[in-house]
Amino acid sequence: MNSKLEDNNTTISYFKEEVERFVKERRWTKFHNPKDLIQAIGIEVSELSEIFLFKDISLDTIHNNKDLFENISDEIADVFIYLVSLLNRLNVDLTSIFIRKMKKNEEKYTIEEFDGTYRKL
Ligand SMILES: [Mg+2]
Repeated sequence: MNSKLEDNNTTISYFKEEVERFVKERRWTKFHNPKDLIQAIGIEVSELSEIFLFKDISLDTIHNNKDLFENISDEIADVFIYLVSLLNRLNVDLTSIFIRKMKKNEEKYTIEEFDGTYRKL
C-alpha cells in the first residue's frame, strides 16, 4: 500500500477496492456475508470499547500514550475495514447514503430545536 495516502487525497473507492482485493486473495468472500460482517463490526466495536472499560481515559492521555493511541487506532481501523466489506457485499454507495441520511438528520434534529441539547427544546 502507498503510505503517502491520507484522508485528504484518498477516495472511498480506494478503500472498497483494497478490502475487496484482501478478501478475494484469501478466498474469504464466502465468510463476508452481511450477517457475519455485521457481527464482526459489533465485535470490533466491543474491542474498541474494552480499551476504555473501567478506566477514565482523557483525550490528553490518548494523545500522550503512543501504545494506547495505536491500540485505539487499530480497533477503529478494524471497525472501518469490516464496514467497508459490508458496503462491498451490499453494493452500497456510501456517498449517496451518507448524503441522504445527513439530510434526514438535518430535518429531524433542527438547530432551532436541538441547539446545545440532545433533547428537543
Ligand atoms: Mg480488533
